[in-house]
Amino acid sequence: MLSKKLEAAINEQIKNELYSAYMYLAMAAQCEPQNLKGFAHWLKVQANEEVSHAMKFYKFVNERGGRVTLHQIEQPPVEYGNPQAIFQKVLEHEQKVTAMINNLYDSARSENDYPAQSLLNWFVDEQVEEEANAAEILETLRMIGDKGHALVMLDRELGKREE
Ligand code: MG
Repeated sequence: MLSKKLEAAINEQIKNELYSAYMYLAMAAQCEPQNLKGFAHWLKVQANEEVSHAMKFYKFVNERGGRVTLHQIEQPPVEYGNPQAIFQKVLEHEQKVTAMINNLYDSARSENDYPAQSLLNWFVDEQVEEEANAAEILETLRMIGDKGHALVMLDRELGKREE
């Protein structure tokens, strides 16, 4: 059975993952009227992925005989700046999430909770990918600078992200 301490920490992380979804959706909402449809698409897919992260934790708490409690989700910012500023924030946000996952892993390890460590291993790997994806797009945006045609091409590329 899940300890009360780990249950509380995972419930907090469910909120954090849902906040991530909320923030990426807010970023997408900013891109839509700017005709950055590919960016908006990529961010909406990302938002869905964050909901699925929350649901992985939700399922785990229930399977371990715990109780999911949902906390209040903060309002995300409305404006994020240009695409480069958006992806700077995506990268910084994912770095913060990585630290959260690492803290959860430390708790699971100190309690010798092996199933929680197994679940968190998946998240550790996932965060490597999340940071790499954000860093790669950010690097491309830095190279693009103010070249409009290159931005249009990246927008098309991001629009191809699979759901
Ligand atoms: Mg996540």
